[in-house]
Amino acid sequence: MEKRDICEIFGSNVFNDSVMKERLTDETYAAIKMAISEGKGIDRSIAGAVASAMKEWAIEKGATHYTHWFQPLTGITAEKHDSFIAPTDDGHIIMEFSGKELIKGEPDASSFPSGGLRATFEARGYTAWDPSSYAFVKDNTLCIPTAFCSYCGEALDQKTPLLRSMEAIEKQAVRIVHLLGFKDVKRVQTTVGPEQEYFLVDKDMYLSRPDLMYCGRTLVGSMPPKGQEMEDHYFGVLKPRVAAFMRELDEELWKLGVLAKTEHNEAAPAQHELAPIFTTTNIAADHNQLTMEMMKKVAEKHNLVCLLHEKPFDGVNGSGKHNNWSLTTDTGLNLLSPGKKPAENHLFLLTLAAVIAAVDKHQDLLRISVATAGNDHRLGANEAPPAILSMFLGEELTEMLSAIEKGVHRDDAQKTNMTVGAEVIPTIRRDNTDRNRTSPFAFTGNKFEFRMLGSASSVSDTNVMINTMVADVFAEFADRLEKADDVKEEIFAIVRDTMRNHGRIIFNGDGYSDEWKKEAESRGLLNLASTPDAVPHLADEKNIKLFSRHKVLSPTEIFSRVEIVLENYAKVLHIEALTLIDMMNRAVIPAITAYNDTLCCAVNSRRAVSNSLDTSVEEELIARLTAANTEIYKLTAELKNSVKAAEREADATKKARLYHDEVLKLMTDIRKYADSAEAVVSNDYWPYPSYGDLLFRV
Ligand code: ADP
Ligand code: MG
Repeated sequence: MEKRDICEIFGSNVFNDSVMKERLTDETYAAIKMAISEGKGIDRSIAGAVASAMKEWAIEKGATHYTHWFQPLTGITAEKHDSFIAPTDDGHIIMEFSGKELIKGEPDASSFPSGGLRATFEARGYTAWDPSSYAFVKDNTLCIPTAFCSYCGEALDQKTPLLRSMEAIEKQAVRIVHLLGFKDVKRVQTTVGPEQEYFLVDKDMYLSRPDLMYCGRTLVGSMPPKGQEMEDHYFGVLKPRVAAFMRELDEELWKLGVLAKTEHNEAAPAQHELAPIFTTTNIAADHNQLTMEMMKKVAEKHNLVCLLHEKPFDGVNGSGKHNNWSLTTDTGLNLLSPGKKPAENHLFLLTLAAVIAAVDKHQDLLRISVATAGNDHRLGANEAPPAILSMFLGEELTEMLSAIEKGVHRDDAQKTNMTVGAEVIPTIRRDNTDRNRTSPFAFTGNKFEFRMLGSASSVSDTNVMINTMVADVFAEFADRLEKADDVKEEIFAIVRDTMRNHGRIIFNGDGYSDEWKKEAESRGLLNLASTPDAVPHLADEKNIKLFSRHKVLSPTEIFSRVEIVLENYAKVLHIEALTLIDMMNRAVIPAITAYNDTLCCAVNSRRAVSNSLDTSVEEELIARLTAANTEIYKLTAELKNSVKAAEREADATKKARLYHDEVLKLMTDIRKYADSAEAVVSNDYWPYPSYGDLLFRV
């Protein structure tokens, strides 16, 4: 594609600033700009004018319908399409779209998860326009990004708390920058750049694997002779089919205004990554949802299937979503940019200290924000950050903070560093901060990269947590600074206190090692291994107070979320268990039996020829396969019973526990026998495409 074409297609399906400028009156444009830049609501009279311009523009782009595009707690986006048509008296139609329709929609919400928030007699939620995220046209439909709430205003979606958390952190961050003398700053916004990992598999093979079709991951499958040990896939040359997919994906995303920037192969065979250029958090969240949707759609066109599951294949790397996070002022200042002299950069020091304190105080929240059935398979596996939270700062920064902690004066702190070989606390070099890939929360030059998030999740929850917990620490710091006689001295006192009270969260070593697990335990860090271990803690008193204090989530919203996440966990495992039972009973057990039968026939016919012919190979295989099949059959029956028991449990926490402790355990046992059988059953008999086929034959 020519350079000019790219510039032309970028944002061509987005009702963005330039389109608004061109199509709205000066007055309306100014009003909407004001609303967006100040984060305020939109006047009803303005909405009418915007709606009408939006409709005209969308119809020119081929749209016939509109939808309030929202993100319910199912984790994916929802849309209910209404056409623009309205009847006229003379039996014709006109295309209509009013300000009221733009601002508010009322989808029947009864089948979205609400965790008991919405009594069934009042199964209507409403959607409310988020003017800070641009409307766009997709599949002949005008999509209007919206928040989704119950009639009493409780959040039923991911966007509402995210917007609230952005307001919370903005409020406190503005206090901080003002206290530090940056009086011209009006806004401080969080920015996010989510790197998205995914797998591509051949669609025909996908369709012949019920586990991939129903669960998005393989439930059985023995490792092929080659995995990722050669590390020849990472950044390797793209296969033509994959290259064509990526080209088309980029184009589709550019049309929607998504800043897709980097596409490359990842560590595992068939694994890839897309990274966009970072942007304001709620837009990054919307764009990431669109990215995942487009990945799936575009893959289909190339007879591929995009797997967003965190662990589609056992034994090779899983997929994550690296949440790069920072804070920027409207004057262009990045609060996490160390600058040339970090030790004298008070804003940086204070922000860094705030993040350190926040992560240590709220390890539980970060862990909870990434808790899903899928991600449980990835966290703690040897290629993903463990379920234990820690922060990587790099040597230079850690030394600098330790010097401050020891009470060494700023200038002395620089000398201290000189004696350990670093130049007078140099600009923090990117390559110096980005080496540790094993840390779940790493400082990477001028931002923090949170790596525990799963590939299939929305980035919303994670950023709700980060924003709120940092807002809370900022508030505490701002209170201290307001009372201080000497602001500079107080900043150093704050950094010192932070290091003393929360320094244990800093760990620059190998986060994948077993020693770290022990070390983390002795430091008193949390290790919430699974979703049922982690999620109930969202409703701990500390967290209820935190979210209430900053008006991000009410206690009712918190309780409903705990329930929804646990219910979802149980549902996922339920489907997986039923799928595995079906695969064993109707395909794997019969395949083993059939192959065994062939082996028995071979033994018999050989004996018929002569008793002296060797049948030891067949006999040994028969014995092994018979034993495996017996175990699989027995365990499958047990699994069926344990699913029934889990299904009967009414309490959400207990239910999730049963699925984790009983159901998942049996599934793992069955898999062991099925995989050992797959390794010796003839290809002609095995009912499913192998890992080798799936991973290497795109
Ligand atoms: P990596 O080495 O992790 O692949 P990249 O340079 O590709 O690092 O950056 C990863 C992501 O971080 C990109 O999406 C990028 O836009 C994002 N990013 C860079 N700066 C910021 C920032 N200030 N705030 C949020 N995200 C950022
Ligand atoms: Mg990264």
